[in-house]
Amino acid sequence: MDKNVLNGLFRPKSIAVIGASTQPGKIGYTVVENLIKSKYEGKIYPINPTASEILGLKVYPTISDVPDSVEAAVVTVPAKFVAQVAEESGKKGVKGFIVITSGFSESGRRDMEDEIVQIGKRYGMRILGPNIVGTLSNADKMNASFAPFLPLPGKASLVSQSGALLIAMDASTYTRRVGFDKLVSIGNMSDVNFADAIEWLNEDPSTSCISLYIEGFKDGRQFIEVSRKATKPIIALKSGVSAHGAAAAASHTGSLAGAAKVYGAAFQQAGVVQASDLDNLFDRTLALSLQPPMTGENILIITNGGGVGVLATDAAERYNIPLKFAPAEVQEELKKHMPEFGSAKNPVDITGMAGTEWYHDTIKYAFAHPWVDALVVLYCETAMTDPSEIARGIKSAVDESGVKDKPVSVSFVGGDKSDKAMKWLVENGIPAYGAPDVAVNVMAALRDYARMRAEAAEPIEPCASENRQLALDIINRARTDGRDALTEVEAKEVFAAYGLPVTKTHLAKTEAEAIQLANQVGYPVVMKIVSPDILHKSDAGGVKVNIKDDKAAGEAFSTIMENARKYKADANIHGIAIQEMAPWGTEVILGSVNDPTFGPTMMFGLGGIFVEVLKDVTFRVAPVTSTQAAQMLSEIRGAPIIAGVRGEAPRDRKELANTICRYSNMILDLSDEISESDANPVLVYEEGKGVKVVDARIILKKK
Ligand code: ADP
Ligand code: MG
Repeated sequence: MDKNVLNGLFRPKSIAVIGASTQPGKIGYTVVENLIKSKYEGKIYPINPTASEILGLKVYPTISDVPDSVEAAVVTVPAKFVAQVAEESGKKGVKGFIVITSGFSESGRRDMEDEIVQIGKRYGMRILGPNIVGTLSNADKMNASFAPFLPLPGKASLVSQSGALLIAMDASTYTRRVGFDKLVSIGNMSDVNFADAIEWLNEDPSTSCISLYIEGFKDGRQFIEVSRKATKPIIALKSGVSAHGAAAAASHTGSLAGAAKVYGAAFQQAGVVQASDLDNLFDRTLALSLQPPMTGENILIITNGGGVGVLATDAAERYNIPLKFAPAEVQEELKKHMPEFGSAKNPVDITGMAGTEWYHDTIKYAFAHPWVDALVVLYCETAMTDPSEIARGIKSAVDESGVKDKPVSVSFVGGDKSDKAMKWLVENGIPAYGAPDVAVNVMAALRDYARMRAEAAEPIEPCASENRQLALDIINRARTDGRDALTEVEAKEVFAAYGLPVTKTHLAKTEAEAIQLANQVGYPVVMKIVSPDILHKSDAGGVKVNIKDDKAAGEAFSTIMENARKYKADANIHGIAIQEMAPWGTEVILGSVNDPTFGPTMMFGLGGIFVEVLKDVTFRVAPVTSTQAAQMLSEIRGAPIIAGVRGEAPRDRKELANTICRYSNMILDLSDEISESDANPVLVYEEGKGVKVVDARIILKKK
């Protein structure tokens, strides 16, 4: 995309307001008024067929009547007229078409939306909305919206899918003291979507951090791709965390994949920091817009109170950056700047006696020390100290330390004076919060950001697909049969085509054949029912393990057949699978879904029969790199089980990670075919001994 193409939406030199009104209170009036109030320096052209003047501006009957060129049009006319004004605007050479009007896809009229998009395409005119508030920019002194005023100026820019929330957040930038440069209402995203906005804001000189309020979108892969390339921090609040479409899932994975989990995984891969709620979005945005990322592990906390120090310590643990003590030489130096009864451990407690000087001296020294990767400064208001003086001391110490590549955050606990001091700190580039927990939470965001950035720079391995045709043949055969579920035998053949280590499996139609194949495989063997109508084989009494001889094999054949008939009288039975009996190993599950937003997505978790109960699973959008696969192994709750607990040897994590990568390549390569799949269980052996897929399931996309 030519990045400048969106200038017409976000930084236009002239704006027509189509549907401008003479009546105060109408949106068409408010937009004109807001443009004037915000001191917009470009040309404003109100368009209205009957009026002659609005707020002192000359009105034109149609956009075609405007004597000069027009870069953007803000549209407030009723939905049924929007296509017509789009056509006129396109002809006029408008570059950005900002549709405030609602009554489109959000109320069942996608057709009307599509029509506008088609017109836009024809004229090379980009469309924002419809169903939006508009767009606001402090740098351009432009309030092209019906939100009453520009936000508190700052370095972050916000893109919001909800218009109402954007207006509310606009107002709260003042009370929360989190500044924004641009607010972009993105609405139905008929044309310009999150990825487009991110790409543009990443180049915008007045934006240093991109905040997103997301309800849901379609172009997940484009979002990941663009976000990975962005050089500015992106933070997202995703609402709607309840599971979607997971209810009637045919595989384990399907029932475990909720929207929230998949979005969360995608954000990780995209290098997007997440916010847990609205407060958190503001808090983290402030830090990300003012401070550099945190590279490294060591946070040093400096405090004048034990209580807030402990709260911050707890928070550090909670947000996965547990505190460590600084090296002895650092502690010794710190000791020089505090009374005898202070503590130079971590938190560094310079005591309630601490005045500006002690704060200043400890901060100046500690911040510059190479051991310290980030500094959190806490202050409890006391009767003897003046919060604003402490604030100035903190700021000058930070400046004098000369450090520019490490973050600092502050928390003052107290009353009005502390509040004022924090306001001053924020205005001077240091994020400050009323609670110690938050000062630590934002550090976690800065650290996540640094870690994810490093990962996003890693190349994505190419997709291996040597045996694609083999897999397609198996799939097509099942389709010819009128099936959309592969049997275990078929699914394993597809898996094997992509290099996944499956148990050797043969199909027996008769008892005699079963015995012969069991001998060929070698005892002990496992025997299982093979029927497209029986997906959960154990439930049907369709699995017998540890079969040791011909007699047992013969008996198992008839028992399994009988059980299957009892379970489902008219089941189409292909036969019985004879397979090698894999030795015991740790049971894990690998699986995939085709997520409506992100497409083929991998799942990994602890397997076995409790997987749906424990829900100890994690997701990544395919393809999964080896670093990401390794992360998946370490981020489930049961990670220690795979790492080896209580004297048990560690499991073969390397081979398990490789298997995840290969599996993810398979679902990506066959994304037109596979809807859901799982391998449950996959047995994982000791380090160096690999893994074995003992059960496989593939559900095909309906065609
Ligand atoms: P389903 O999940 O359809 O009930 P599985 O093929 O997963 O059937 O078999 C049930 C259980 O039997 C597995 O969870 C595993 O513990 C064991 N099992 C199945 N196949 C093998 C095999 N080839 N080697 C060892 N154990 C097996
Ligand atoms: Mg199974």
